[in-house]
Amino acid sequence: MRIALIAHDGKKAEMVSFALQHSTLLKNSELFTTATTGKHMEQAGLQVTKVLSGPQGGDAQIAAMVATRQLDAVIFFRDPLDKHPHEPDVQMLMRLCDVHNIPLATNFATAMLILEGLQK
Ligand code: PGA
Repeated sequence: MRIALIAHDGKKAEMVSFALQHSTLLKNSELFTTATTGKHMEQAGLQVTKVLSGPQGGDAQIAAMVATRQLDAVIFFRDPLDKHPHEPDVQMLMRLCDVHNIPLATNFATAMLILEGLQK
């Protein structure tokens, strides 16, 4: 399973907690992350392939992977209470997940359901 993990700054702690709770499944998957999220994942003991940081184009890189069918799911913990200079890239990523019918979770509860579903 090829899964992208991305978290805005206000959601990075939640992403670490999600990764720790699902480490067995995630360790058996190929993980792709934006740069800063990836550093947190590595500290949590996961092996990841990092792309650029989100504001530097990392979300756009993940979006390109979605468009070229290189990912099976995207887990993107967005912070709905903060503004982001790269919001157009975030919108593009979400749009391309819909265009290509790639499962996209934007919160912990949905991410859990997606991982459970992928396991089956
Ligand atoms: P980051 O990017 O993991 O490099 O912080 C995430 C984002 O803001 O899209």
